Amino acid sequence: MGDCDHHHHASRRDFFRRGFGGILAGASILEEACFRASWARAQARAATAHLFDVEKVAEGVFAALPKPAVLNNCNAAIFVLSRDVLVVDAHSTPSAAAALIAQIRKQITEKPVRYLVNSHFHWDHTQGDAAYKKANPQIEIISSGATKQLMSQLQRDRLKAQLETIPGLIDQVKMRRSYAKTARDRDWADDQLRQLAAYQAEMSSYPLELPTVSFDKTHVIKDAAGDLELAFNGKAHTAGDVQVFSASKKVLAAGDTIISMLPNINDGYPRPWPKTIDTAAAWKFEKIIVGHGSVQHGRERMGQFRNYIEDLTARVERARQAGTPLEDLQRSITPGSLGTLQAGGFGSWVAENLDKYAVYLGDKTPLEERLAGNVSAVYNNLGKS
Ligand SMILES: [Zn+2]
Ligand SMILES: [Zn+2]
Repeated sequence: MGDCDHHHHASRRDFFRRGFGGILAGASILEEACFRASWARAQARAATAHLFDVEKVAEGVFAALPKPAVLNNCNAAIFVLSRDVLVVDAHSTPSAAAALIAQIRKQITEKPVRYLVNSHFHWDHTQGDAAYKKANPQIEIISSGATKQLMSQLQRDRLKAQLETIPGLIDQVKMRRSYAKTARDRDWADDQLRQLAAYQAEMSSYPLELPTVSFDKTHVIKDAAGDLELAFNGKAHTAGDVQVFSASKKVLAAGDTIISMLPNINDGYPRPWPKTIDTAAAWKFEKIIVGHGSVQHGRERMGQFRNYIEDLTARVERARQAGTPLEDLQRSITPGSLGTLQAGGFGSWVAENLDKYAVYLGDKTPLEERLAGNVSAVYNNLGKS
């Protein structure tokens, strides 16, 4: 972990909780330096035309890893079937989804996307649904019943709340721009402003597109190239996470139930989550396309991620039973004090992924910040089963 990882910043955490990357008003000099370094890397990556890096995972299976954007985009998993294509997850805007559809056609196959899976209800995985529907009106949008319900209950309100935070973010970036000392900093601010305005304009008249097919436990897509098995294996990151398994390609698309970062537990179920991963682990896969961060080769990181959730949950549970207040817990549970973050270099691998793949600069929450967020989420969600 670099020096960048040791600095906490309240406003940054607040933005992250709202689902934005931080804008870092009043950040320390050191953070500024780290931030600039991140931005230089991001600019280098953004220099190419595409929104996503497409990575071949197996024959006919691809992962689309998003380049940094002001608002988060998830990974997509792309399974090329004998006549058409199944995509897992639809990003945060119709325009981002449309960009991936175009990229699939150009770089992978001209077969139509016939199936879109919403792995769970979160905005960064579902707000692009309308673009898929527009590209192919016959498309099946598939989710668990719980996800469909959560989308219809929460999505409009959550987006509305998120849009309400954007004017404040714009003000902060403008303030930051007025302090900028270099052309690069001004360019950074201008790019943020452009992206925030574009998101605001696009999403203020947002066409909510709900799944057209939903199921409780399992759903199979039959195909001559090898069936795809969709399953709800138990509560985890949300109440309705779906995972997609290809037995013939030995690939799992995990949504946010397994990511190459610390988990997001804000809507999560910390107690059943490890068991849900164990259930999925009965499938014979060798590679995992996760919801965020690098594709996992082998099962080692999945196991570490699972153990981390179990370890953290047990520790928070004991402290809670002993009456320890949340603030004390957040102070006492540090990366160094959690064996499962140290084991096998899991914590430093997570930090690397945050640096490399966090979609928006401010999303590169230092490990400590992510951990503190996880502690409070586990604390609040312990009772959920
Ligand atoms: Zn996500
Ligand atoms: Zn999510």
